[in-house]
Amino acid sequence: DNKQVLLEVRGLKVAYGGIQAVKGATIEVREGELVSLIGANGAGKTTTLKAVTGIQPIADGEVHYLGRSIRGQGAWDLAKQGLVMIPEGRGTFTRMTITENLQMGAYTRNDKEIDADIEKVFGIFPRLKERRDQLAGTMSGGEQQMLAMGRALMARPKVLLLDEPSMGLSPIMVDKIFEVVGDIHKQGVTMLLVEQNASRALAIADRGYVMESGEVTMSGNGRDLLDDPKVRAAYLGE
Ligand code: ATP
Repeated sequence: DNKQVLLEVRGLKVAYGGIQAVKGATIEVREGELVSLIGANGAGKTTTLKAVTGIQPIADGEVHYLGRSIRGQGAWDLAKQGLVMIPEGRGTFTRMTITENLQMGAYTRNDKEIDADIEKVFGIFPRLKERRDQLAGTMSGGEQQMLAMGRALMARPKVLLLDEPSMGLSPIMVDKIFEVVGDIHKQGVTMLLVEQNASRALAIADRGYVMESGEVTMSGNGRDLLDDPKVRAAYLGE
């Protein structure tokens, strides 16, 4: 593959005190790819994302973003360079309006196209446009997930990291969120998607990784993993 590797996680280890949460994970994300990281509760997926964005210290191994180690770079510096995470639980500013939340998403920018980009986000999520002056805290979980995605897009991400976007949502909203994730990918945004909903996450992925007890145990293209009997037995309830 001749696409540039934007994000490279090599032999990553992360610990919380004496607990080894990630025990040597290697993951690659190339330009334009949608890569899904699946695995059970507590497998170490969220911890991997936190280490990648500089929130959680790296005990061993390396994370390179755009060819450069992320060590010593803060979350803000990385976001400014386009490495943007949508955290589990969304992290919207509940006491601000939809529009204000979107403006906050552009906090690392300093250009004149912010209002135009808000209109683009409204194009992707008409629901946000309808509610533009409403406080974020009054919206449903699915709407807040849309807002979190819209806010992240406002940072003009080169690599978007999504942690469990479907968590806690109704089936209709889950459909909508996966549809939008697929659309954003088709528009050219590179993504690393962490999900417990393995079937949906692998169905839209170019490639996937399976994480178990802090280790990457399988990887491959999304379709092949989805068809793999071991994956089906462990994660798709078959
Ligand atoms: P989930 O889907 O539940 O978020 P996950 O695959 O993202 O699961 P992590 O949240 O990364 O898993 O957790 C990996 C391991 O690290 C688990 O054993 C968890 O209990 C532990 N862990 C996570 N956060 C902390 C913390 N702040 N302090 C101590 N241990 C933690």
